[in-house]
Amino acid sequence: MRSIAALAALSLAATLTVALSGEASAGTPGKGRAPQPAKQATAVGTGGAVSSVDPYATRIGLRVLRHGGNATDAAIATAAALGVTEPFSSGIGGGGYFVHYSAKSGKVRTIDGRETAPAAMPHDAFINPKTDEPWNFSPELVTSGVSVGVPGTLATWQRALKRWGTRSLAESLRPATRLAKKGFVVDKTFRSQVRQNRLRFRTFVPTKQLFLRGGHAPRVGSRFRNPDLAATYRMIARDGWRTFYEGPLADEVAGAVLQPPTVRKRKLPVPKGYMVARDLKRYHVINRRPTHVGYRGLDVYGMAPSSSGGSTVGEALNILERWDLATMPRAQALHLYLEASALAFADRGAYVGDPAQVDVPLSDLLSDTYAAERGCLVNPASTMTKPVEPGDVTSYDGACPGPLGTASSAPDTENTETTNLTVVDKWGNVVEYTLTIEQTGGSGIVVPDRGFLLNNELTDFSAEYDRHDPNRIEPRKRPRSSMSPTIVLSGGEPMLAVGSPGGSTIITTVLQILLNRLDLGMTLPDAIAAPRATQRNTATDLAEPAFLQQYGAQLGLLGHDVEAYEDIFTGTQEIGAATGIEIGPGGLLTSAAEPSRRGGGSARVVTPR
Ligand code: GLU
Repeated sequence: MRSIAALAALSLAATLTVALSGEASAGTPGKGRAPQPAKQATAVGTGGAVSSVDPYATRIGLRVLRHGGNATDAAIATAAALGVTEPFSSGIGGGGYFVHYSAKSGKVRTIDGRETAPAAMPHDAFINPKTDEPWNFSPELVTSGVSVGVPGTLATWQRALKRWGTRSLAESLRPATRLAKKGFVVDKTFRSQVRQNRLRFRTFVPTKQLFLRGGHAPRVGSRFRNPDLAATYRMIARDGWRTFYEGPLADEVAGAVLQPPTVRKRKLPVPKGYMVARDLKRYHVINRRPTHVGYRGLDVYGMAPSSSGGSTVGEALNILERWDLATMPRAQALHLYLEASALAFADRGAYVGDPAQVDVPLSDLLSDTYAAERGCLVNPASTMTKPVEPGDVTSYDGACPGPLGTASSAPDTENTETTNLTVVDKWGNVVEYTLTIEQTGGSGIVVPDRGFLLNNELTDFSAEYDRHDPNRIEPRKRPRSSMSPTIVLSGGEPMLAVGSPGGSTIITTVLQILLNRLDLGMTLPDAIAAPRATQRNTATDLAEPAFLQQYGAQLGLLGHDVEAYEDIFTGTQEIGAATGIEIGPGGLLTSAAEPSRRGGGSARVVTPR
C-alpha cells in the first residue's frame, strides 16, 4: 500500500539514510511520516552529548539534555527509545548494567540490573527430559521459557532516576511512548534482524503478529509502530514501575514464560520455563561499587560481578601495563593485547560468577602483583599455546611461575547482540549503560498484547552443570555477563566512557578501544572504527576481515593463528557496536559511534563546535 504521505516523503529520499518505500508495516499507517533522523558517527562540541546505535534514541536523549535534564535523565529516555527501535537487542524484557560518574561527588557508582534465574530453576534445566540429552542450544534452548530470566531493566531505570536523575520515570518514558505510537522508519539492520529470526518469531502468536507482515520481515523504509508497547509504557507511567514486578504485568510475564504463547503448529519444541509472579516480586537491582584499576596514571572503572566485564578488562590492562605499547610496532602491541586477553579470559572462566552465590576473588584478579605473575607468561616474541590455564589466586607473589600448562575450554555460547549508550551532560555527569535481551530477538517470546520481547539471558549460564563452575546454573542466581560499560578518569575528572554489545567479545572490544585510544595514539572515533580482533582463550584469534588483512601475516610470524570472525547466529563478520564519549580539555566533547558496524550509530552533541 502506498499512501500519499509516503509519496511525498519519497521526494526527501535523497536526504535519508534509508529509502522510503512507503509500505505500511505494523499497525495502521499514520499521518505525517517524518524521515529517519540523519545519522552521524562523530560529533564534537559542548553542552552535553549522547551516543547510541540509533538516531531516534540519540535524538530523544539529546532533547532531554537540551531541556535541562541531566545525564541519567537522558540515558533513561534514550534507553526507553531503544526499547522501541532496537526491540531485538534491548527493552523492558531484559537487563543490563548502568555505570554513573557523579560530577558532584566525583564518584563512579553502578547498578546491577542483571536478569535472575527463577527460584524453581533446576540444575538440569538445559536437559531435555524426554531424551535426557541437553537441548540443542540453538534454536531450541534459546527459544524457550527456560532461558528467560527475571527482567531487571525497568527496575534499573527507576533506581538510576532515583539516585541521580531529576525526572520521574513517567516523564522519562514519554518520548519513547510517542515514538512507539507514531512509529519509525525501518532500516536494513531492523529488517535483517527480523529475517534472521523468522523461524523463531513464527513460533509465537504475539511475536508473529508484532514483527512479521504476512510472514515476512517489514520492508526497509516502511514505518513500524508498536501501539502495544506505547500502551505498556503508558501503563507503567501511570501505575509506577512496580506494576511490572507486582501488578498484572508480572502475572503476564510469568504466564508467558510458564506457558509460552506458541502457535498450534510449530517447528520448535519451546521448553516451558519456571518463572512465577513471586520471582518478579522478589527481583531487585543491586547498587555495586565499580571495579577499579590504575592504568598509566588513569583510573579505569568498570562493572563488577555479576558481570565479568570489569574484572576481565581490568586484569588485562594490569598485565598490559608492563609494556610500553605506545612505542612499539602496532602488530607487536596487538600481540600483547591478544595474549593478555587470553590470560584474563582463563581467570574469568575459573573465578567469576554471581557474587551472591560465588566467592569471587575480585581483589586478587585486579591486583598488580597477580598481574605481574600472569604477565610473566607472556612472551613478546611468541604466542602461548591456548587455551591457557587460569592462575592461582590463592598463592602469588609477583614472581614468574613455572611453565604454563594448557587447559580445556568450555564452549562459548554467549550471543552477540545487545546495545549500549553513552551520555555526558553539561555538568560533567557521565553515564555508560549496556542493556540487552541477550541474543537478537531474545527468547522470541513477546508478552501477549504488551509489545516487548522477553530475554533469553539464562543461556549465559554455562551449558553444562559442573559443581566447580562459578557460572553453573543455580536458582535465583544471575548468569555471568560480559557487559563492560567503562568510565575512565584522569586526575579525578572524567576523560572517557565507552561500551559495546557483542557477548563475550564485548570485553575484548572495550579493551581494544581503550588501547587504541590510550596507547596507540588514535582519536576516540578512530579507536572505535579500527578493525577488531578477539582472543578469548581459544586456539585461534578471531578477527574482522580488515584486521586480518592488516595484521594477520605479522601476527602469524609471532605464532598466532588469526582466522576470520563470523557470528554463529547472525553470520556477520563484525565484532561489537560500540559507543563512547571523550571529554577533552576545556570540556570539549567528542561523541562517537560506529561509522559502519551494525549499519552505523548516532553520536550527537548539544552545541556542535
Ligand atoms: N548476554 C550477554 C552478556 O550479558 C550480552 C549479549 C550480547 O552482547 O549480545 O554479556
